[in-house]
Amino acid sequence: MNSPQQSDSALVLFSGGQDSATCLAWALDRFAHVETVGFAYGQRHVIELGCRKKLLDGILSLKREWATKLGEAHTLDIPTLGEISDTALTRNLEIEMGEGGLPNTFVPGRNLVFLTFAAALAYRRGISNIVGGMCETDFSGYPDCRDETIKALNAALNLGMARNFDIHTPLMWRSKAQTWSLATELGGKALIDLIVEESHTCYLGERGAGHEWGYGCGECPACDLRAKGWHEYKARRGG
Ligand code: ZN
Repeated sequence: MNSPQQSDSALVLFSGGQDSATCLAWALDRFAHVETVGFAYGQRHVIELGCRKKLLDGILSLKREWATKLGEAHTLDIPTLGEISDTALTRNLEIEMGEGGLPNTFVPGRNLVFLTFAAALAYRRGISNIVGGMCETDFSGYPDCRDETIKALNAALNLGMARNFDIHTPLMWRSKAQTWSLATELGGKALIDLIVEESHTCYLGERGAGHEWGYGCGECPACDLRAKGWHEYKARRGG
């Protein structure tokens, strides 16, 4: 059963990481009804998906109006993506630079697949806004994070599903430090504390070691980016 499209509703790609947690707060600030979707695709850091429940519970308790807006949390299994990708995110490989200047953490087509599944789900749920944490600014040059890619896919999805989806990427032009700042604007220190404590970024799926920016191995590119962004954010705030 497909519902009519609601312009005030949104579906957030929610993995349980820093970026998607910030995107969720951004969506709750703007839309009347917000649902989330996460993908299990055979990622090594599947621990990330397990962080969602505590993050969602934390976000529910932050602001009363957010709690009234937050709807269903969906999880879609797409193991085929992991099966066909030979990458350091889906195999037990060392993270290194590969051909064409792209690290071997690049999962070809990942965001295209995610957004297409998200749109199909949004179609059924009558949701017109899709929110994702793709970012061109501080990333590893993943071509499926580029603004141009997202805009082209948005056009293709609208044509192919005969709907009017709007894909929002609030982090596209923000550095990691600016993403921390955005979270501060949206939910203050309580949201920052929640993201530090409960979100997951580490590519290796490590939760063991605690740092002031959160948990992780502290060495992989994802930890490195998160740590650098955190220190820059703290330096700017004078603390
Ligand atoms: Zn790490």
